Amino acid sequence: MSKANIAISACLLGHNCRYDGKAKYYPKVELLKDKYNLIPICPEVLGGLPTPRVASEIVSNKVLREDGLDNTLYFNEGAKRALAIYKENNCIFAILKESSPSCGSNLVHDGSFSGKKIKGIGFTARQFMQEGITIYTEEDIDMLLEEDKNE
Ligand code: SF4
Repeated sequence: MSKANIAISACLLGHNCRYDGKAKYYPKVELLKDKYNLIPICPEVLGGLPTPRVASEIVSNKVLREDGLDNTLYFNEGAKRALAIYKENNCIFAILKESSPSCGSNLVHDGSFSGKKIKGIGFTARQFMQEGITIYTEEDIDMLLEEDKNE
């Protein structure tokens, strides 16, 4: 049986694409590979931002860099391109890294660059939700693996 495609934040797969030039590798993603083809997406890189890059956070409806420059255009472009990759690959759902201004689907940093998180949705997660795409986070991977066992 051919495997279904799912989109996943590239940093969770070990790609060094975060703003600090590091990954956020989540070893349990390996177990998902038995059932799914994992299609990596990093909206911030897709949107044209370099790695490493100055940290950005959502402030009202914009994304601002820590030094105050407006990065909103890059984040919008990244969301558009990530969605295009999702669709081109006929993905069936997405696993997006929580708390990122692009990928966060429940939490984001509060815009004060102090590490504080608040309820909120990143630019790419919002675009995906508007398309009716189911989004999981890295915290849901155990549950997805458990569901697979019960199938
Ligand atoms: S934009 Fe998403 S995939 Fe890229 S580094 Fe940030 S959380 Fe990871």
